[in-house]
Amino acid sequence: MAVVTVSRNGPIALIRIDHPPVNAISQAVRKGIGEAVTMVDADAEIKAAVLICEGRTFMAGADASELGKPPVPPHLNDLTDHIEACSKPLVAAIHGQALGGGLEIALACSHRLAMETTRFGLPEVNLGFVPGAGGTQRLPRLIGVKHALTMAVEGKPVNAAKALEYGLIDQVVADLELDAVAFALSLIGSDVSDRKLNQPIAADSFNAGIFDEWRALCAKRKRGLVAPLAVINAVQAATGPDADAGKRRERELSLELRKSPQSTALRHIFFAERSSAKVDGIDPKSARPIETVAVIGAGTMGAGIAQFFASNARPVLLVEISNEAAQAGLERIRVNLAQSVARNKLTQAKADTLISLITTTTDYADLAQVDLVIEAAVENMEIKKQIFAKLDHSCKADAILATNTSYLDINALAQTTQRPERIAGLHFFSPAHVMKLVEVIRPDTVAPWVIATLAQGMKQLGKIPVVSGVCHGFIGNRIYQSYQREAGLLMLETGSPEVVDEAMRAYGMAMGPYQVLDLSGIDIGYLMRKSLTEGAVHPHAFQVHDRLVEMDRKGRKTERGFYGYDREAPYIDPVVLDLIQTVAKEAGIAPRDLTETEISDRCVRAMATEAEAILAEGIAAKAGDVDVVLVNGYGFPRHKGGPVFASRANS
Ligand code: NAD
Repeated sequence: MAVVTVSRNGPIALIRIDHPPVNAISQAVRKGIGEAVTMVDADAEIKAAVLICEGRTFMAGADASELGKPPVPPHLNDLTDHIEACSKPLVAAIHGQALGGGLEIALACSHRLAMETTRFGLPEVNLGFVPGAGGTQRLPRLIGVKHALTMAVEGKPVNAAKALEYGLIDQVVADLELDAVAFALSLIGSDVSDRKLNQPIAADSFNAGIFDEWRALCAKRKRGLVAPLAVINAVQAATGPDADAGKRRERELSLELRKSPQSTALRHIFFAERSSAKVDGIDPKSARPIETVAVIGAGTMGAGIAQFFASNARPVLLVEISNEAAQAGLERIRVNLAQSVARNKLTQAKADTLISLITTTTDYADLAQVDLVIEAAVENMEIKKQIFAKLDHSCKADAILATNTSYLDINALAQTTQRPERIAGLHFFSPAHVMKLVEVIRPDTVAPWVIATLAQGMKQLGKIPVVSGVCHGFIGNRIYQSYQREAGLLMLETGSPEVVDEAMRAYGMAMGPYQVLDLSGIDIGYLMRKSLTEGAVHPHAFQVHDRLVEMDRKGRKTERGFYGYDREAPYIDPVVLDLIQTVAKEAGIAPRDLTETEISDRCVRAMATEAEAILAEGIAAKAGDVDVVLVNGYGFPRHKGGPVFASRANS
């Protein structure tokens, strides 16, 4: 069947796009719309037209399969010009999402109507490029430079209410097709020339300094990213006297950036995230529903995990060793919620509903009917074994029992239960209600449906699940550990944590490795290393760390770690520099200067080498999975695509 068809409702032509699942703007869709518009223009019987989509959404963007390939005609920018040139009223009837090219097509129409639930956006910037079909030119003409910059530089969609307020749409309607046809009928005979978004933008309609303000903002908040600056340039080009020159500039920038290394990396990570829940040999259809959940331990992680499930409307049982500990956990959640309410991110009513879904208990008998248990008690194998024995006894036969352990051997833990095929890991990241990444750990004995249930279930609840085999630290912590080891050696060579931190921040990491250690507590790694067998830890790389902990310098929580925190700003403490010198001398490492690039190259190579080992061992199934973990869980710069992508691109 044709993806674009035209039907008649009296003098109104209905141009209908039907290209499941999201009406992506493929070559056939572009060609079909172009032909339909030509027909509308040519047929004297047709007085106005409605452009509408079948299925769950208006055109949600470009055809992903065409991304990264040379553009195929008819080009979207020619199509939007063609639509805009139509002499008759053309009403875009929008539901679902009008994103990227979809919004550009809607902007080229003379009028726009939408359902209340519609979202509108130019998300191209998130994939490292600039809209190329007039989005950055028509949007500022329609809604003003200020709002257009916000939408195109931030790449975040707006809802229909906002779109109406901005003047992006003419009306919000209830019955899309019926109302759009009625609206089109009312437009018959009207002059649409003043609806065309190709007139100069009045210089007094915006603040001339706004572009430099945005550039300054991007220098701070979007450090190192090319696309946001290019988007600002494109919108600025729309404010020139010649509309065609603006469009040419936009097109140039768009084509140039599509080929850029940042865009290639961002597309890699985008597709890797989309496919992270797919695992060879695991049928997603075997996933079972998760209706009720129990969380063992209401500490940092347990409270966050409980909040996450409750915010997804799942009743949660929160289990602790005492009522006091349970109440303390609940209080942690209440504080989080109160902050969200204060920041207008959540209504008080929603916060109340959420908290009412969480019930605390100390009695495992209460867990008899839950579908999934996540154990987030202390990192101690003996305690976890005791907890799992009780769960095994109390929970129904097909309940899945998962642990949030960071390092412990889940294969061994599974063997201590009567249900090793229903034991797995769900490794959340802190804060668990915020961080999207979750590693789904797949022990040797687990049944495939259990992994399908966890991976699909997490995805449905908005997480980014990545399946990992069992090894020390799984994918993320194991690779991060190799990064920390290299950073440890680099600190001994350069004599300073700050030099290493600065180099990694310049590379694009959200924080330097020593800032992270001070924030999360140096003692966590110390205790973990103490639990390892001799020879498993590099003899020099963590010496400074361990001695700092033994000096009770555990990081921010003791006001001293690699940096000092008892003054206004973190500072370098000479005690730490002396300690580094001493350890370097003992290790026979002579101090030397290293460039920032040498430092970041070595750290990324260390991560990539460990990642290749993880792939060779089958712990991770796909290189993209490793990149997804490091980008979403450890602050690796998204625009570098993850350590494997970055390292392979460099070699
Ligand atoms: P935490 O110390 O903040 O909380 C642990 C909680 O477990 C405490 O409230 C304690 O009272 C409770 N507890 C102890 N024994 C229990 C038992 N037998 N039954 C029920 N509750 C019990 O620890 P956390 O940081 O939340 O870590 C919990 C687990 O999550 C650990 O296995 C840890 O390795 C893992 N983890 C932690 C992080 C992190 O960033 N903190 C990230 C991922 C995974």
